[in-house]
Amino acid sequence: MKMQTLLDFVSKENKLLSEKHPGIDKEKKTLAQTVKLSEELGELSEEVLASLSLQRQHKLDNMKKDNLSKEFADVLITALILADTMGVDIRDGLKRTIKKVNNRYKP
Ligand SMILES: [Mg+2]
Repeated sequence: MKMQTLLDFVSKENKLLSEKHPGIDKEKKTLAQTVKLSEELGELSEEVLASLSLQRQHKLDNMKKDNLSKEFADVLITALILADTMGVDIRDGLKRTIKKVNNRYKP
């Protein structure tokens, strides 16, 4: 999948969310999406624990085996929607972070 395809999906989804919840100002939307990101991170954490068999047995029994990739995607998409709401240029952020990380390993 191309980055632009993902960003187009995120922009479309964010517009649909705004239509679904009319009258919510940008500040409240930003806060709600930040809380949602935390919720999604919690779900990913549960899946990571389950993948390592570190959850209680009754939780392991009720978890689907193939949820890990879906929960990673939920975190990624939710973070991108938040960035979209805040007008963050995620391409620029990714470029700068990748450059910074790459520079760490230069002699
Ligand atoms: Mg999730």
